[in-house]
Amino acid sequence: MTSDVDTPIYLDHHATTPVDEKVVEEMTPYFTESYGNPASEDHIFGAKAKQAVNQARERVSEAINCREEEIIFTSGATESDNLAIRGAADYADDNDKGSHIITAVTEHEAVLEVCEDLETDGFDVTYLPVDENGKVDPADIQDAIRDETILISIMAANNEIGTIAPIKEIGEVAKENEVFFHTDAVQALGYLPIDVEEMGIDLMSISAHKIYGPKGVGALYVRRRNPKVKLNPLLHGGGHERGWRSGTLNVPAIVGFGKAVQMADQKLEERSQHVDELTSYMWDRLNDELDDVVLNGHPEDRIPNNLNISFTGVENKALVKNLQPDIAVSAGSACTTGTVEASHVLQAITDDEEVWHHAIRFGLGKDNTREEIEYATDEVIKIVNRLRNLTF
Ligand SMILES: *Cc1c(COP(=O)(O)O)cnc(C)c1O
Repeated sequence: MTSDVDTPIYLDHHATTPVDEKVVEEMTPYFTESYGNPASEDHIFGAKAKQAVNQARERVSEAINCREEEIIFTSGATESDNLAIRGAADYADDNDKGSHIITAVTEHEAVLEVCEDLETDGFDVTYLPVDENGKVDPADIQDAIRDETILISIMAANNEIGTIAPIKEIGEVAKENEVFFHTDAVQALGYLPIDVEEMGIDLMSISAHKIYGPKGVGALYVRRRNPKVKLNPLLHGGGHERGWRSGTLNVPAIVGFGKAVQMADQKLEERSQHVDELTSYMWDRLNDELDDVVLNGHPEDRIPNNLNISFTGVENKALVKNLQPDIAVSAGSACTTGTVEASHVLQAITDDEEVWHHAIRFGLGKDNTREEIEYATDEVIKIVNRLRNLTF
């Protein structure tokens, strides 16, 4: 293949993203120069660190339209999901507020596994189905609500198939019924404008490494008024983050996260348009030049960087392997890769086992070029044809 495209080409941005140079630049001084502990407020080292954390908190809160004291920094969205759900459940349990939670079958493992764990502790969880496009119906949420319901947890955009949930409508249902609403917005951040006031969100999980920030840092937004959300902490100790998350703050990571969120917010349109052009190009060509391809997820209401496609007759593991070493894609979600089990998300949208086992997730990013996507599309078409000729 004669091509001046640099390989390998990274098309797995739902799993993680590179750290933006500007983010690295802002983080660097906080490792070696301004290395103080923000809790040590009596001297200049601590004060500088504290100031940096405050700025990051301001940037995150500006991007999602909340107040600074409503942001709790965590080790990432897994912890944020755990803190939101386990924290709300334990508080409700301690105060006899109820023991029922509503979520959906297509949620991330960080939500589903916490819910399953809560079931073993006597909580009752409703796992709502989704339609063939991966959407939860707000009417189903309304119907599932009972007197004992304490929390609704529905992700803003799905990490496998990209489907966007009707967040605002769900927020309205939650408000009408006085139930807290948590959303895992990891994949939506940077592509969908998020306004926790307008969308009626009470708790929201976000992560830095999906938006060109460092790994191991994220946040949980916790509404402090109308209504005031109450949580039990997961980590007990020195009472950092208003007692909700003890542990010395990871200052460089938090600084990087703040910068990454600010950039994701400021460049939302530009980045969305760029990946949208690339995914549209890729899908149009795959659909035109290959028979029997299925786009999984919603045809329109999807985050613009996602294409989840089943190539009928081609095992996804074989396709991923044959795309090596030039093109990095995922068969299903990164968390289930390596196991033979079909994705729980694909199982929720269809009974067609071919779709489950022949699905590839392309996750594009801001730095992918048109040339890269042309090359990747050529390769996918070539290899799908080759593998189909072997098996037919
Ligand atoms: C990646 C991801 C997570 C986990 O985030 P971490 O910061 O890696 O813990 C949670 N939810 C969704 C939807 C994700 O895509």
